[in-house]
Amino acid sequence: MKVYFKELTISTSKKLDLVDITYDVERAVAESGIRNGMCLIFAPHATAAIIANEHEGGLMSDILRKIRESFPENGKWLHNRIDDNAAAHLGSAFLSSARIFPVKNGKIIRGTWQNIFLVEMDGPRTYRRIIVEILGE
Ligand code: ZN
Repeated sequence: MKVYFKELTISTSKKLDLVDITYDVERAVAESGIRNGMCLIFAPHATAAIIANEHEGGLMSDILRKIRESFPENGKWLHNRIDDNAAAHLGSAFLSSARIFPVKNGKIIRGTWQNIFLVEMDGPRTYRRIIVEILGE
């Protein structure tokens, strides 16, 4: 079995935002040379998440609105007493820091309307890391 590890770094421009990383992930899979296996996408951050869904402006706004409604910044969160970013931590905890896709014939399998996004919830940040690790042969 082969293991290919790549670290992407991106910057984000808003407090709450979706950044499409599909192209970067697919490029990493192509670089890996792995034909069949699986691809892990992991954000090593407690205030960001990885999701898969449609890259359509209205839906992207809906997703961000739903995150804000579910985890309001002015909620009476205990963590805000020390860090003032509890909403971002909660979003990360509930959305998940990682997703896995199957890799078949050198490409990830994803739905037509499944792009891969970093969900920024405590931006803007100049330096967000995303790990792409592909296992297979
Ligand atoms: Zn915090």
